[in-house]
Amino acid sequence: DRLIEPEVQGNEEQIDRAIRPKLLNDYTGQPHVKQQMEIFIEAARSRGEALDHLLIFGPPGLGKTTLANIVANELGVNIKTTSGPVLEKAGDLAAMLTNLEEGDVLFIDEIHRLSPQVEEILYPAMEDYQLDIMIGEGPAARSIKLDLPPFTLVGATTRAGSLTSPLRDRFGIVQRLEFYSVEDLATIVSRSAHFLNLETSEEGAREVAKRARGTPRIANRLLRRVRDFADVKGDGSVDAQIASQALDMVDVDKCGFDYMDRKYLLAIIEKFTGGPVGLDNLAAAIGEEKETIEDVIEPFLIQQGFIQRTPRGRIVSDRAYMHFDLSKE
Ligand code: ADP
Repeated sequence: DRLIEPEVQGNEEQIDRAIRPKLLNDYTGQPHVKQQMEIFIEAARSRGEALDHLLIFGPPGLGKTTLANIVANELGVNIKTTSGPVLEKAGDLAAMLTNLEEGDVLFIDEIHRLSPQVEEILYPAMEDYQLDIMIGEGPAARSIKLDLPPFTLVGATTRAGSLTSPLRDRFGIVQRLEFYSVEDLATIVSRSAHFLNLETSEEGAREVAKRARGTPRIANRLLRRVRDFADVKGDGSVDAQIASQALDMVDVDKCGFDYMDRKYLLAIIEKFTGGPVGLDNLAAAIGEEKETIEDVIEPFLIQQGFIQRTPRGRIVSDRAYMHFDLSKE
């Protein structure tokens, strides 16, 4: 499993719930997002109105779901959570909408994957708090209209470019999450270590942060692997050396790249002489889906200056060669 996959079961999910920040103040980093959201939330609260619909975009694990929950929490309202692929039929969304109370947050993850039929229900719901739906089929079919309470739709997506423009235009607030700095990730790691009752030196937290691919979810995941290592191979506490050894063991390199990142970079270097190479060829070469390449693998490599997306395809930079101690031939 890749480190970026969301937590699925049991113990890890419980830990995750414990360390997930619940207030805007505990949401580390993303200063612009925080500053704006603080004002928008305060304004909505003081007017007693529902917050404007909010679209959050950014690569997986950067805190979209966390932010959606914080928004609801700060507004003092309920949050109902679903996702684009889960809402198969118009009726699925209608059921969720009619269950909302005034001011509630409806969170739709992967909103770019809504089907067109479902999306159409969303337009009047977002714009006029109106539910407009057909029930029944054939000659017995009829359309019904219902008033909905004012609510806030929070949509999350890894790819803003895949949203249809009518949907995108209906969001009053759009926030883009950036990869986190090492400093911010170190703060997150220290905070999580505290919740895990894990003694961690500043350098230890920093070592984990440096290898977390700019991503809080990965930082927390790595910290748990480091904890296992410290329990078994050390005295249970984490310093830079223990952290570094543990992370070498789980195959995360000094830049935070995992095997898939390395496979991607090496494929461009070795099979396509550094590029440019088109997405289709690259996907076939490494046996990975195009969507995963674009949404999960590439954003961090681009941000770190290891690759470029050009109209003719992907190109690796000198940095990528240096990373593998290879020379450009
Ligand atoms: P996304 O929805 O973007 O995939 P999540 O909101 O599920 O990401 O975040 C993944 C994990 O990272 C969460 O469990 C949370 O504990 C942690 N996290 C995310 N953003 C922050 C943040 N700004 N500060 C502290 N922890 C964070």
